[in-house]
Amino acid sequence: MNQSHYIGRFAPTPSGFLHFGSLVAALASWLDARAVGGRWLLRMEDIDPPREAPGAQAAILKTLESYGLEWDGEVVYQHDRHDAYAEVIERLFRQGLAYACTCSRKQLEGYSGIYPGLCRNLCHARDDAAIRIRVPELTYRFTDRVQGDFEQHLGRDVGDFVIQRRDGLYAYQLAVVLDDAWQGVTDVVRGADLLDNTPRQLYLQELLGLAQPRYLHVPLITQPDGHKLGKSYRSAPLPAEQATPLILRALRALGQGTDPAMVASTPAEVLRHAAAHWDADAIPRSLTLPEAQLR
Ligand code: GLU
Ligand code: ZN
Repeated sequence: MNQSHYIGRFAPTPSGFLHFGSLVAALASWLDARAVGGRWLLRMEDIDPPREAPGAQAAILKTLESYGLEWDGEVVYQHDRHDAYAEVIERLFRQGLAYACTCSRKQLEGYSGIYPGLCRNLCHARDDAAIRIRVPELTYRFTDRVQGDFEQHLGRDVGDFVIQRRDGLYAYQLAVVLDDAWQGVTDVVRGADLLDNTPRQLYLQELLGLAQPRYLHVPLITQPDGHKLGKSYRSAPLPAEQATPLILRALRALGQGTDPAMVASTPAEVLRHAAAHWDADAIPRSLTLPEAQLR
């Protein structure tokens, strides 16, 4: 790989503060980029203002700074990208690749979350409608750098998905694909909760003629009983004064060797050491840890 060609990114949604799970994802992404001298970009995915937590954007930037996770260039805000999203939606709609859906939530009850295509051939006008992408009856597969081979049949397992909501808000699937391509992202490193979103994104990339990045999905942390990390813990913000011990803990979660003497180091020193020894092959596919050990 040509080292200067690596472009990674962290793309937080400001619906809440960074928690330990976000730190694991951000750290993996940062280290994967820095280990090869690549760039690391920061994109604020603020496409859903009603779900935004007041102060979350500033808090996220501050936490990244206090944890030494420096980004390159200016922060990209998705609220500045609306024209680009609108243009692509208009094109897909004109080409018949996307269509307007007027179904109410009530009408869709009982369909187990997979849209049954009720509006597919009804040629509704765009006003007061959601826009859905017409998915092919095909299996999309890719090889994740940690999770291995993953495949999903878009028609059967996902259905025609929304790219613009009825209230006009743009959907994550479209925005993420357009922005990763626009920013030249070569490597997506993020949490495994997004693994099963990837085939939709591959399809959009194919449809729009965009390059496909490599993917690495870091393990989600589950408790020994199989439950996801408790809500209270997930939403606890990361304290700046705990940066070094929490980075060390996140490194262990990522299967990276740590030197106990490093608790006395600054976050920047720990990160520099970790980047020099980064081994993506050591990342476990899943992670079970009692909450108490994470604190
Ligand atoms: N904004 C998404 C989130 O915070 C992540 C997007 C991505 O990394 O693809 O869950
Ligand atoms: Zn519909």
